[in-house]
Amino acid sequence: MTSTTAYFDHGATSPLRNSAYEAMKPYMMEKFANPASAHRMGLEARHALDSARDRIADILGVDSREIIFTSGGTEGIILSLVGAYIGNKHRGRHILVSSIEHSATLTILDFLKNEMGAEVETVDVDRDGILQLDDFERKLRDDTVLVSVMRVNNEIGTIQPIERISEICKLENIIVQSDCVQSFGKILTDLKKLDVDIAIASSHKFGGPRGSGFMYVRQGTYIKNICESSHEFGLRAGTVNVAGAVGTSVALVEAIVELPGLIPRLADFRRQLLYCINNTASDASINGSSDHCIPSTLNVHLPGCEGEVLVQALDMDGIEAGAGSACHSGANEPSHVLTAMGRSRLEALSNLRLSMGYTTIQEEVDRFIKVFPGVYGRVRGTDK
Ligand code: PLP
Repeated sequence: MTSTTAYFDHGATSPLRNSAYEAMKPYMMEKFANPASAHRMGLEARHALDSARDRIADILGVDSREIIFTSGGTEGIILSLVGAYIGNKHRGRHILVSSIEHSATLTILDFLKNEMGAEVETVDVDRDGILQLDDFERKLRDDTVLVSVMRVNNEIGTIQPIERISEICKLENIIVQSDCVQSFGKILTDLKKLDVDIAIASSHKFGGPRGSGFMYVRQGTYIKNICESSHEFGLRAGTVNVAGAVGTSVALVEAIVELPGLIPRLADFRRQLLYCINNTASDASINGSSDHCIPSTLNVHLPGCEGEVLVQALDMDGIEAGAGSACHSGANEPSHVLTAMGRSRLEALSNLRLSMGYTTIQEEVDRFIKVFPGVYGRVRGTDK
């Protein structure tokens, strides 16, 4: 990043923390051994892996045996949903999922439905993108075995009532899996309080390396392993990425420790960005909830402004942002999150997502405030 660019795409990924990079380096270079090897260097790698696991467990207040390293959020989602369903489908085949989950979740649940006999049902969200608890309770069945609801939505930043969902499911002995990829390092994520059975984390969202992550699986939650293995308590096959695990643990601790200072700073930046957008575009509105939202994400609806075009125009002026809508196979598809919230197809294509993180500084916010009115005017065609 140079002083003439501003990075507002932390929702997609954040830069690697220096501390994580330094901690990882030895395990990529001179201490490269496989932690499953019996020789001295292998044992050293094993020790580093165990320490990384302990570091994560300690900061999250859980047991080390409850932390399973993965290659990131997507793998954690697949292993946990497939494993929880196959391991427990003798109790029921009904799965409840929110309509605004990440595509990794929706895709693997489609697979379970089409190939494994699962009955997958979607729970509605309201216009702010918050799961409707009455719809959730109405759709619960005697054979509901698994519930998958994300803690924080990646596009709009809304926070879901996971504590309440866990409370309801506990009474019915239903497994609760929560995609916490956009929650760790962004808001307080107290696993004991959330009381979920499974939580998913992705390292690169909190300043760890891309291609690393972990899942928390509460002791006593049965997940069938997809592939027999001696690694990761039998739940994840393949040589473990020791450097990735070490980097993940160091980044997570740093992210959690700095969180109390980061939250008010980002909330202030968010206010400044919103003020600028509202002053520039009088018909702009927030996508999502103003109250139940992480401070680092701001998603706005800008009528008459195609999101992808705006993102490209901002990029030319040194602002890296996102449209908040997914592009599938080259076609500009409206975001399933926004349409689930009641936005029309056209409305769901006219959005801007600004997402911040631990590196965001006032100068970047100032840069946005300086260039946005001009860029918006050009894209909207109002710049006379
Ligand atoms: N879940 C959410 C909410 C995400 O935002 C992402 C990444 O964008 C993922 C899952 C997938 O994580 P990963 O990139 O580590 O596979």
